Amino acid sequence: MKSNFGDKVSFATFAQPERAETEEEKPARQTGERFVFDFLPRDIKAHLDRFVIKQEEAKKVLSIAVCDHYNHVNYIRRLEVDDPKRAEETEYAKQNVILVGPTGVGKTYLIKHIADLIKVPFVKADATKFSETGYVGGDVEDLVRELVHKADGDVGLAQFGIIYIDEIDKLASASNMVGRDVSGRGVQTTLLKLMEETEVPLRSANDLQGQLQAAFEFQRRGKIKRETISTRHILFVVSGAFERLKSQVSKRLAQGQIGFKAEPVQVLDNEIFKHVTTGDFVEYGFEPEFIGRLPVRVVCEELSADDLYKIMKFSEGSILRQYERAFRAYGIEISFEDAALLLIANAAAQEKTGARGLLTVFERLFRDYKYYLAGSGLSQLRVTEELVREPQRVLDRLMAEGQQQEKQTLRQQAILFAGRFSREHSLELQFDEAALDRLVERTEAERMKMNDLCAHLFKDFQFGLSLIKKNTGRNKFILDQGAVDAPDKFLSQLVLQSYGPGGERPGE
Ligand code: ADP
Repeated sequence: MKSNFGDKVSFATFAQPERAETEEEKPARQTGERFVFDFLPRDIKAHLDRFVIKQEEAKKVLSIAVCDHYNHVNYIRRLEVDDPKRAEETEYAKQNVILVGPTGVGKTYLIKHIADLIKVPFVKADATKFSETGYVGGDVEDLVRELVHKADGDVGLAQFGIIYIDEIDKLASASNMVGRDVSGRGVQTTLLKLMEETEVPLRSANDLQGQLQAAFEFQRRGKIKRETISTRHILFVVSGAFERLKSQVSKRLAQGQIGFKAEPVQVLDNEIFKHVTTGDFVEYGFEPEFIGRLPVRVVCEELSADDLYKIMKFSEGSILRQYERAFRAYGIEISFEDAALLLIANAAAQEKTGARGLLTVFERLFRDYKYYLAGSGLSQLRVTEELVREPQRVLDRLMAEGQQQEKQTLRQQAILFAGRFSREHSLELQFDEAALDRLVERTEAERMKMNDLCAHLFKDFQFGLSLIKKNTGRNKFILDQGAVDAPDKFLSQLVLQSYGPGGERPGE
């Protein structure tokens, strides 16, 4: 080929990078001591695809950011062994992430599944919590300590954890109508410190027990063991809805006359997000240094009814699995018609809370079903379009059918009892229709099993009836409603009559 094209042609070979171990061979648990990361962005994306529907751009960008982050961690760790000084001095802009998107569209879900896959501890908190407490620094550092807790005390592993802070947009000072929100800015500054690199003491200044323990150690050893955790390798992800951002950016773009019309819009989509600049975040009310520490920016888009349908149908974390398990625990196999799922998806989309709308709709739809069908004897529940449209009517019908079925089963059990009794005592014992009805009523009223109730009511019958058989040769006994209501009276009358002639003979 070279002879044809000269030296201008170069041959690129794609060597397969050697990957230490396959997923199966990886240790079941990560440890700080032996931290393994050898994923490719596409591995992470493939994992996220199993759970998260839509959000393609976010999945891709996050997969790359996470790989870059942990590959760098691997690099520094190797360097720490070979050349600690260089490891210390290596400059690196951490791939901290800002996730923009409305509530319930999978922001937390994405990060949680990334943390699950690479087996690092994950902590989530709301930024609003920090500004409320007033004691800013302490609380923010608690997040780091919480990572240690999540890593079962493995400080080494906690240092590779992920901290996720939601509602970060609430820290924007411009959102405060009164003027600059000092505490919001204060939290930004404290977070900034964490996101860069700092040492966080393992014991909080507020942790009395921890302090006492430290004092005790000081007495014992004459010095305090300094226990800190470095935030150098902790990955920070912050998120928020940034509701004003879209109109703000649209307006700016319209003013810049690049063909965008400013329209009153709420939520960012990927199209508009491409134009979001650091300046937009600063105008929104963020400190430039803070926003500068969040170089990876990605948007999670709103979910349509169709997306919600796909979440139910195809996500491994589908709420359907949760409801299948919940009903199975009551002995009921629940199944869903597609048409029903479409209706549910539409209702959930109306809630405007993303996939959380599904939870709301399911809870509302099935609350009474769980309550009334659990223990009703029903074994199959098919969720149809009709059930979603008229849940109460379908439930009433199912309960009526269920009761009928339950009654039939109980009657059958009573007949079986009589059959067993007959065989065991060489007699012929039967219940008439009224007796069977009464027995069913009594099992329900007294919450007893049919067999237990019969054994209890007719416990003396084996002797009584055998005696009558001996006295009269009579072998067949039909028990009526009176026998169920007052078995002792019924039996003693029979026995009495068996000694002398005349009179009506009950039970014949
Ligand atoms: P937020 O965007 O407010 O962080 P979450 O990620 O906590 O929302 O979503 C709430 C729940 O909704 C998740 O636990 C998950 O079950 C479901 N969910 C949300 N978005 C998606 C999605 N895109 N695909 C699949 N499930 C989702």
